[in-house]
Amino acid sequence: MVELKGWAGKILRIDLTSGKIEKVDTERYVPKYIGGLGIGLRIMWDEVSGDVKPLDPENKLILMGGPLSGTLSPSSGRLTAVSKSPHTWPVEHTTRGNIGGHFGAELRFAGYDGIIVEGKASKPVYIAIHDDQVAIRDAVHLWGLDTYEAQRQMTKEMRDARAKAMVIGPAGEKLVRTAVIIHGLKDALGQGGFGAVMGSKNLKGIAVRGTGKVKMACSSKELLDIVEYAKSLIAAPIHGIIPPPVGGASSGYRGRDGLQWVGGPKKLSIGKVDPKDLSRMGLRAHEADRRFAGKMAPFHVKNIGCFSCPIACKSYMTVPTMSKSGIPTSGEYVCLSATWYSPPTSTHEATFAAKQLIDTLGLNPWDLVMWVFLLRWMHQTGKITEKEAGIPFSDEKKGGERFITALCNKVANREGLGDIIAEGLPRGAMKLGVLDDVLRGDAAAQVMLCSHGMWDHYDPRSYSQVLGLTWVMDNRDPNRHEYPGMALFSGAKIEDVKQVAKGLYGSENAIDPIGKITPYHPSKGKFAISIDHHGIIKDSLPLCDWVFPVVLSPHAERKYMGDMSIESKLFSAVTGVKWSEQELEKAAERSWNLHRAVTIRDWKTVNLREGHDWLPDVYFGSATQTMAVSTVVGGAGGGLDRQDFETAKTDYYRQRGWDEKTGAPTRKTLEELDLKDVADKLKL
Ligand code: SF4
Repeated sequence: MVELKGWAGKILRIDLTSGKIEKVDTERYVPKYIGGLGIGLRIMWDEVSGDVKPLDPENKLILMGGPLSGTLSPSSGRLTAVSKSPHTWPVEHTTRGNIGGHFGAELRFAGYDGIIVEGKASKPVYIAIHDDQVAIRDAVHLWGLDTYEAQRQMTKEMRDARAKAMVIGPAGEKLVRTAVIIHGLKDALGQGGFGAVMGSKNLKGIAVRGTGKVKMACSSKELLDIVEYAKSLIAAPIHGIIPPPVGGASSGYRGRDGLQWVGGPKKLSIGKVDPKDLSRMGLRAHEADRRFAGKMAPFHVKNIGCFSCPIACKSYMTVPTMSKSGIPTSGEYVCLSATWYSPPTSTHEATFAAKQLIDTLGLNPWDLVMWVFLLRWMHQTGKITEKEAGIPFSDEKKGGERFITALCNKVANREGLGDIIAEGLPRGAMKLGVLDDVLRGDAAAQVMLCSHGMWDHYDPRSYSQVLGLTWVMDNRDPNRHEYPGMALFSGAKIEDVKQVAKGLYGSENAIDPIGKITPYHPSKGKFAISIDHHGIIKDSLPLCDWVFPVVLSPHAERKYMGDMSIESKLFSAVTGVKWSEQELEKAAERSWNLHRAVTIRDWKTVNLREGHDWLPDVYFGSATQTMAVSTVVGGAGGGLDRQDFETAKTDYYRQRGWDEKTGAPTRKTLEELDLKDVADKLKL
């Protein structure tokens, strides 16, 4: 066996039915599938049939790091999961999730690239990994605990305070279809419902402690040179934030005077930020947290980062008065988790209770945020009474803490209406007879259910056919930030962004100003394909989507151009596999085609064009959202044009070498990508 550099060389295989623990050679999958998502997809293709349901013992939960895990590569503390999903709709197909924090690096220090969990334990258990020592331990005493308490107990039983844990809460135990897996105070393996997959296996969690080192092909100095270069272009989250005064008012990441960095003793004046002053650029993430948190801003204590991340985008906050409700007084948030319940009438205690309850119960705010709007609409239009719902709608006028606490607990425990909500928005709305109202956009302006049964994280009506394509070609919420990063968060002028887009995707027409969609142009297809490929790369190395790819940079002398080759530079240095940017992207293209093949297998049809590659009617109408949680930016405007979007789909298939009628990869394309066996199995 060749000694690998970068990759640990071993993947743990743990069968919870038999108790058997084995080690699989990573060499079998690399460099062809890179790591993370690529390897996870290949294992699911090889080992799980299309007939297996997500909560069957035959389903597997694959948790994978990659070649950059545990290194000082920026934002490399991520971990990717692949499994059959109880969350996706209408088909429960194989998809992915991703989690930050420190678990991925710790697993790497323990000597593993990933874990394949299979089977089902006869009673609650957890997996304990301490370097070479791997055990399946009893977790009967942990079943029913919230995620904070379960992690506390597990790390205590590991007898090493540096152990890291990821666990499910009551929602995962009760098989809530959208349940998440939690690590630390907030990091969540979110979309996909993999918390329910863990629950179905009677697996409460996994704890890991590693004391080993990562073997790299390059020296530490060589890696750090690339890291310093990357940091000089990254500067702040979301793909290059252009500092004021050049950055526009739309940037959510402008600095403000008087902030402290990571709770340091000295207040700093940010003023005009020099992009080379990384410390002050980091303060802009700090300010973004405060701005985004709205009424929670006064409770922000300091910023927190995942392993090896220069951005530290997460806010640690403390609300001392929560102790009266028995809710933990400190937690972390990033993005929607802070604000998913924050109507104008709510108190900060209600908003913080909502944040803490999703993290401690293991719930998914991306689904519940739609439910809050749907339930309000149903109540206001007389479709459901307070008594029928068993949830005190009237409390919303008094601050909302009782309302949101009742809702979260009912869902996590599948009580009453909570049992229907636990089915996820589309399945639950269907049971309540209001799914058509949702899909037409009639239910309530903010119930934005997009493809695959998920909330429309970045609305195609704001971000053009490009995000429309990424939504339908992916098989979950794509949650990729290149387009909004360029068009919105960067604060850069649209003329400058268009020049960057021209360099990357061949035409200025690749990107539109927000909410002003121009007719489809092939460069938009090229942009969507680039997003898909860089998504695979990020989830396979793995790196964070808030940082990579570095599409823009804040440097005027570079004409704000970033550098999309940083990932291949890091990969080549760490593994010694000297791949150019194009070669790494070719490997990503292979995994993207495998992703499509897995979806075809799970859907049991090669024709994905009609059923799978589909957007609800509402996206072909005008955008009217005004609420803070809305992903529509830019106010009312035209939606996508149906005929134009069909043209976009056809061109996307053509550029990929896929069948234009069905959207399936052709045999020729699969063979060119060294996936002949996949074409054979699909009988293409
Ligand atoms: S940008 Fe934020 S979520 Fe991403 S790795 Fe860094 S700290 Fe974690």
